[in-house]
Amino acid sequence: MKYDAGPASAQQVLSAIEDAIGAVPFPICIYDQDDTLLACSDAFRDAAGAIFEGVGPHAYEHSLKYEDIVRCRLSKQFPEDEVPARLMAEMKRHRVQDEMSVDMLMDGQWMRRSRIASKDGNLIAIALPIDEIVERTAALSRAKREMEHQAYHDPLTDLPNRRALNEYLSRVFDSDMMLDDVAVFHVDLDKFKLINDTMGHDAGDSVLLEAAKILRSEVRATDFVARVGGDEFVLVFTSLIDRENIANVAQRIVDKMSQPIYYDDQPCQIGASIGIAMREAFTTPERIIMDADIALYEAKLAGRGRFSFYHAGHRAKHVAFKRRVLEVREAIQLNAFEPFFQPQICSKTGEIIGFEALARWRDREKGIRPPSEFLGAIDEANLLFELDEMIIRKALRRLSDWDADGVSVPMVSANLSTGILMKENLTDHLKWMCDAAEIAPERLGLEVLENVVVDDQNGVISQNVRQLKAAGFLISLDDFGTGNASISSLRSLAPHRIKLAQEFVTGIHCDEGLQTIATAIIGLAQSLGMQILCEGVEGEQDRRVLEAMGCDYFQGFLFAKPMEDIAVPIWIDDYYEDTGHTLKRA
Ligand code: C2E
Ligand code: CA
Ligand code: CA
Repeated sequence: MKYDAGPASAQQVLSAIEDAIGAVPFPICIYDQDDTLLACSDAFRDAAGAIFEGVGPHAYEHSLKYEDIVRCRLSKQFPEDEVPARLMAEMKRHRVQDEMSVDMLMDGQWMRRSRIASKDGNLIAIALPIDEIVERTAALSRAKREMEHQAYHDPLTDLPNRRALNEYLSRVFDSDMMLDDVAVFHVDLDKFKLINDTMGHDAGDSVLLEAAKILRSEVRATDFVARVGGDEFVLVFTSLIDRENIANVAQRIVDKMSQPIYYDDQPCQIGASIGIAMREAFTTPERIIMDADIALYEAKLAGRGRFSFYHAGHRAKHVAFKRRVLEVREAIQLNAFEPFFQPQICSKTGEIIGFEALARWRDREKGIRPPSEFLGAIDEANLLFELDEMIIRKALRRLSDWDADGVSVPMVSANLSTGILMKENLTDHLKWMCDAAEIAPERLGLEVLENVVVDDQNGVISQNVRQLKAAGFLISLDDFGTGNASISSLRSLAPHRIKLAQEFVTGIHCDEGLQTIATAIIGLAQSLGMQILCEGVEGEQDRRVLEAMGCDYFQGFLFAKPMEDIAVPIWIDDYYEDTGHTLKRA
């Protein structure tokens, strides 16, 4: 029922009440504060008797007083001399009851009085200030409609919620729609958490609202769009005929979401990943949702900002991945990650300039496991910060142990994930960690991927990097050349050092194309006054070519694979012994 017609007039309300109570099979009436009758049932008229003679259907037009009605009824029932006393008693009771109920009211508002009709003709009387009836009827239906709406809608975006989605899907599956005519999209915003963390919840809310608007506008009015979680949406299509059509819609959404959304004139870069499932024989509503979820994981694993169709082969992989997420969660709690160390070598002097700390998982069952087996799951579990912090803490502790043992390690470098670079107070936090280990910030290198500038909402990252540099940390741009922001990252991060990615390095001595690229990048670094380190140096011939090109530092299997901490002192000794370089104490 809608209550849009605006407040009804008192007359309209009273007529409505008369209609409603007229046929109630016992005496019932409604009167106002002044005890003037407003409406009553036919049974009430019969009980009261003569006083209603000539009174038309609208009792309120006759200003009948409650006391007069009662008197009339009493004189019908009792001898005339008894009437005054009985009337007095009844009116007293009536007032006392009124007062009692008035007393019970919270804020002095005269709300409701009632008396139950008994067989002897006692009347039920209800009194309500008349405007309140109007108000209350409207408020009630408003509240009811609101409650219904709230139960099925997300308060922020006003889109249907998960409950509404479930009921909708059940209806769709119960209907006799064609089997392959149902497609479900599970849409996940890619960098929403970063925005929420760095720009605050207002920004997050506003971005969500905008995203919801985009989703709604990219599909037809008959398509169903629900918000089912923080930054997750489910879309249901019931009239997309084929896969190609569906893929087009998905691509359009991915493209639209890759455009910046503005908050307070600031661009927020999000992006969306989409998992798509289509109804097949025996699919249930629960199953199609789960399939879309599995396909979403595929899309995320493939690098986000894309869509992926569910296919049965994904299921086992998905289950394994979910299990791994649980495992890494436990491993973080058990402190089971540790740094392995890989040396970095000066090309001119052959000296060890430091070690890169690379995370390894010491798994009780499977032994030492490399990042490729856990980074994705750690990311999914939102624990990258914890991992990076654990590796840095342990690497700093090793460094201070080596200092104490007289092992000469000038510095260690650690890898920072994008999330950690978004943290407020990152510089203070890392300085504090260095202090705790009694290591100068100059001896902790930080490796960041050039792609972080793509995720740099409002320059939070570049500001953090500036602060880190000012505090003395050595910043390297990792995997340079492989991302899609190489040149802009040089400008906005201005790192001390560039690490030329392995894929431009390994095998360079016999590949002219690689030589051209490396020459250009090394020249670029030199002209910007930045150091250049080549990773993935596996062979002596590659090393020589790179040295001739002017590369400053090397890292790669030619020198050593990443090694356990206890192997480091021995390796250093062997290295200097074999190469004949003199060991310089830090
Ligand atoms: P990365 O930072 O580019 O690290 C270099 C990777 O190349 C390491 O792989 C290393 O073992 C490998 N490598 C070194 N020299 C050679 C070589 O000569 N040939 C070949 N083929 N490979 C070489 P790893 O240890 O498996 O690490 C992979 C990636 O995982 C790292 O790439 C880094 O991006 C990430 N990672 C490692 N530890 C951490 C960490 O503590 N935190 C974060 N956020 N990421 C980490
Ligand atoms: Ca690195
Ligand atoms: Ca690298």
